[in-house]
Amino acid sequence: MVRASATPPVEKFVSASGLRVYRMRLEVFPGFDAHVHLVLGLDVPILIDAGSGLGNCNTDLTARFEAVHAEFGEKIGLKDVGRVLVTHGHMDHFGGVQFVREQSGAGVGIHVLDKRVLTHYEERVVIASKSLREFLVRAGVSGASASEMMDMYLIGKGFYHSVAVDTLLEEGIELFGCMRFVHVPGHCGGQVCIVMDDILFAADHVLARITPHQSPESITRHVGLGHYLESLRKVRDLPGVRVSLGGHEVPVTNLAQRVDEIREAHQKRLERVLAICAEPQNIKAVAVALFGPLQGYNALLGIEEAGAHVEYLYQRAELGVANLEQVQGETEPAIQYVRL
Ligand SMILES: [Zn+2]
Ligand SMILES: [Zn+2]
Repeated sequence: MVRASATPPVEKFVSASGLRVYRMRLEVFPGFDAHVHLVLGLDVPILIDAGSGLGNCNTDLTARFEAVHAEFGEKIGLKDVGRVLVTHGHMDHFGGVQFVREQSGAGVGIHVLDKRVLTHYEERVVIASKSLREFLVRAGVSGASASEMMDMYLIGKGFYHSVAVDTLLEEGIELFGCMRFVHVPGHCGGQVCIVMDDILFAADHVLARITPHQSPESITRHVGLGHYLESLRKVRDLPGVRVSLGGHEVPVTNLAQRVDEIREAHQKRLERVLAICAEPQNIKAVAVALFGPLQGYNALLGIEEAGAHVEYLYQRAELGVANLEQVQGETEPAIQYVRL
């Protein structure tokens, strides 16, 4: 993960019709930043994403609102937020929703495919953990390392409790007379980008430097590299986008070019996976070959990323299973993939 220290704590943007956007940087996990965006000039102040609610994040959020008041002269506080729009169901974007609701009583919006993450969080963690564990075993991650990775996955997940959702962010609707939603599943199943005048709130769909994290659809429906690449097409040529504000890193002013770079990076990674699988490999071995030995949470992210690429190639019959007899005979086999 890359620290987005290049962005200022608060940065102001003005849309073509004069709406004011305050981009606030928050520390969402130790050493890892994300942005939330406050939109002013509509009937009510709108907050896009809410940070993680963990560690310093809520304190950062309060301080950023104070800075918007003190440094930019906006008569606004956190208590005035009228609606929180959550771009997708990842902790670094929705974890702070409870705090924002406590402070403001704001209603919450999210895409229907991530609604469950907010409204049935406790259930979702149990079910997602089972799928993740199954994936790790098939990927070749053995008992103790699998348990360690599961512990990593569950860090911080105990603190959040379900909240009600008031609004569904669907394609085809317009909110506040100026916001449209583009459903872009891939990085997350209910990921949306928000179009407002000449500004695109790209969330984690398009980032300036890193390629947004991918994980296999075998863990969570509607994620996966195939969906992601299709979704990139949906935003590449959106008309009239002057600046794209992502959930992490610096703003993007050349959206189509950045989309092409991300596509190309995945294409190269797919070619590497095919080369690695000239000999049979499990997903863990593919991850090590791609990224080198990884520790802690990055090891989990690396295996998911490798898994998403292997799954994409398997779905397209470019990889096959090399140890079919073993897979058939064992209850918890690791699958070996080979180039076809
Ligand atoms: Zn995300
Ligand atoms: Zn994120």
